[in-house]
Amino acid sequence: MSPRRAKRRDDTPPPLRAGAIPHTESHPDGDWVVRPVSAGGKVYRCPGCDQEISAHLAHIVAWRPNDEDNRRHWHTPCWNARFRRGANIHRSRNAPRHG
Ligand SMILES: [Zn+2]
Repeated sequence: MSPRRAKRRDDTPPPLRAGAIPHTESHPDGDWVVRPVSAGGKVYRCPGCDQEISAHLAHIVAWRPNDEDNRRHWHTPCWNARFRRGANIHRSRNAPRHG
């Protein structure tokens, strides 16, 4: 068996943009356009956990359907846990400050 083929077949995804197709998700706070991002060599800060997203880490970017200029990069688990965690719900009233 030949260990490798001379030419890349069509079923071999390119290294960077594989699957980076935006799709719309419905969430309790409305629709979001979500796009998977392969590791792009740039560091972002995740609004879910306020930690940096490693330049080597695949993650997602999300934005409102009409507001792509304000897109945010999230760790994929943070995005998925966004509402399970309830971080953005019931925070506006009766929320004592830390400290
Ligand atoms: Zn995060």
